[in-house]
Amino acid sequence: MNIILLGPPGAGKGTQASRLEAERGMVQLSTGDMLRAARKADTPLGHQVAAVMDSGALVSDEIVSALIDEKLGTLSAEQGTIFDGYPRTAAQAESLDVILARHGRKLDVVVELEVNEDALVERIVGRYTCAKCGAGYHDHFKQPLVAGVCDVCGSTEFKRRPDDNEETVRTRMAEYRAKTLPILPLYEARGIVAKVDGMADIDEVSAQIASVLDR
Ligand SMILES: [Zn+2]
Repeated sequence: MNIILLGPPGAGKGTQASRLEAERGMVQLSTGDMLRAARKADTPLGHQVAAVMDSGALVSDEIVSALIDEKLGTLSAEQGTIFDGYPRTAAQAESLDVILARHGRKLDVVVELEVNEDALVERIVGRYTCAKCGAGYHDHFKQPLVAGVCDVCGSTEFKRRPDDNEETVRTRMAEYRAKTLPILPLYEARGIVAKVDGMADIDEVSAQIASVLDR
């Protein structure tokens, strides 16, 4: 089975992909991870990726396609795949079909994690972690039992990810809405889109995805 997890940044795609890997032996093809791995690899493609990334330019669709192609070549036919963060554009959606076909695969399901943008922004912007042990907290949903003291390790230092500010999060969501969401109708026309409530808690989202895949 080959699936795409679609949803704005922060919707929990990575978490769900990891669960599917653990529970179903599927393989997550995250283009971000693949690019980071490729640039470290001593191959012609790796050198090309490193040069582009170092120049600050965006890696071309051709390179991303080549990476996916290469990765699919290392999998056995029984291993399912999860695409996360790809395709982002209509052009990439088209090349994905071509690449999958070359490996005797086809896209089975596109899982769309539906979110309420304002609620998702609140969820992302409010999160922070203990600087010492990494325990997760939230301004509105999960404060430490004693204000300013980590429940787990007693540390009084906390940190926030610099990306977790409202402006950055809203920009990335707008980008998702403008560029990625328009590819959905393409898949809806094939009848392979399943909508899942991305605002439900993590276990509930997993259960909904499982019922889609087991249909
Ligand atoms: Zn702690």
